[in-house]
Amino acid sequence: MSEHTSDDLALDGGTEAVLTWDETIAAYDPVLGLEVHVELGTATKMFCGCPTEFGAEPNSQVCPVCLGLPGSLPVVNEKGVESAIRIGLALNCTIAPWSRFARKNYFYPDMPKNFQTSQYDEPIAFNGWLDVELEDGSAYRVEIERAHMEEDTGKSLHVGGATGRIHGADYSLVDYNRAGIPLIEIVTKPLTGFGDRAPEVAKAYVATLRDLLRALGVSDVKMEQGSLRCDANVSLRPRKKKPEKQAEVPFGTRTETKNVNSLRSVERAVRYEMTRHAAVLAGGGSILQETRHWHEDTGVTTSGREKSDAEDYRYFPEPDLVPIAPTADSIEALRATLPEPPVQRRRRLQGEWGYSDLEMRDVINAGAIEIIEATVAAGATPAGARKWWSGEIARRANLDGRELTDMGITPRAVAELDALVQGGRLNDSMARQVLDGVLAGEGNPGAVADARGLALVSDDGALGAAVDEVIAANPDLVEKIRSGKVQAAGALIGQVMKAMAGQADAARVRELIMERVGS
Ligand code: ADP
Ligand code: MG
Ligand code: ZN
Repeated sequence: MSEHTSDDLALDGGTEAVLTWDETIAAYDPVLGLEVHVELGTATKMFCGCPTEFGAEPNSQVCPVCLGLPGSLPVVNEKGVESAIRIGLALNCTIAPWSRFARKNYFYPDMPKNFQTSQYDEPIAFNGWLDVELEDGSAYRVEIERAHMEEDTGKSLHVGGATGRIHGADYSLVDYNRAGIPLIEIVTKPLTGFGDRAPEVAKAYVATLRDLLRALGVSDVKMEQGSLRCDANVSLRPRKKKPEKQAEVPFGTRTETKNVNSLRSVERAVRYEMTRHAAVLAGGGSILQETRHWHEDTGVTTSGREKSDAEDYRYFPEPDLVPIAPTADSIEALRATLPEPPVQRRRRLQGEWGYSDLEMRDVINAGAIEIIEATVAAGATPAGARKWWSGEIARRANLDGRELTDMGITPRAVAELDALVQGGRLNDSMARQVLDGVLAGEGNPGAVADARGLALVSDDGALGAAVDEVIAANPDLVEKIRSGKVQAAGALIGQVMKAMAGQADAARVRELIMERVGS
């Protein structure tokens, strides 16, 4: 039940005591558990034929099945099952030769059937792992407990009241368009042994998982739109002096921080919860097993609802759906469709592109690997593709809160821009102006450069005349160069560039000056 946050009462937060990070780590050892929900990008819902597009008119994508009307019968979406198996295989899980759906019974207004079709003791995939790498190159293995199929709930909108929560609202609206969209829930085992790196591993895990899911093509994995959602479970146990004794210490009580909706928030929320737990425990208190809400603006979590392990959903096998029983052959056929694992793929691309570790990190942080790959495939130099996508375009995408793919410029256009620079037609500042034009919808780079009259003058006739004038006007600088102070050429180049309104090919200008002055 990861979805229903809107009824949870958020106390006004930020006032709880925390220990410093160093105090926390000195006294305690963290245990993590990460639950990730991913919305599959299937064309239709998990148990009916309703479309799944995001942002449609409320309650326009519904039918008797996903509205839970009496007598309606669900049918399993085959694509959804295939995606679940491919995800399981990519996470190195065992695929169950036979598994069933189960009803998870509870009431909530945005769940019209009064049960969620999920999987319980028979998940389709279990016992896997995913290797992740931190920014400094250190590697960690994250053990996966299970990946199971379920369906999403609808969405409640609470109107009136300050916070958008049900508390204090005048009325509530329900949109069932999302009800029945296929979800895969991926749950880790309790993760130990990460120590002070735990917050970073949590972030790296979600990032690597996101990349993997994107490479599998099963979801658009947009955290800000909710197609990838993470709940972070954290507990602390007293640190043992001898690390080999640590495994003997029982786990502490966990809290579950809900719907942390950016990669950065995953790391921050885990770090915050660790320091908050530490303060409670160090003060002799005990942790309440509860859900918590992460507040991006203030950087704290606040109490949600109490949640015991013994919550009784009266799970029972879904009688209206046949069991899922993939043959060994069909599983192997799906295994053959798996992409290269993200960490390996990055290493390979970094080698092929000749990027430094730092450059590669910028590219990863900008989420630009795929788009750079497409740009290089369209003919760009790897250096040029990196420079634009993880530089200027990423900067603007950040400012606007948009994805690189939504910026209105294609890999092909960036390749064309790069070719104009490589071919000597544009210098850097001109290329930036051309980029402006392309982003403003003025056309392809070549057309924008033509329309704006942007081109370097590299023809020796025009440049030579400007160079001669500047040399004649600056005998003192010329003398300096002749006496060996070559850096004085910079001032001459600057004057020529100014005379040519910045449109001269600076490298050619330098050559012409040195030819004339040199001998
Ligand atoms: P729930 O129904 O509460 O969401 P799940 O089993 O789906 O429970 O997920 C709980 C997550 O918390 C799992 O990733 C599990 O490995 C992890 N976990 C269990 N116990 C602890 C603990 N003491 N400390 C930290 N994480 C834990
Ligand atoms: Mg769970
Ligand atoms: Zn439907």
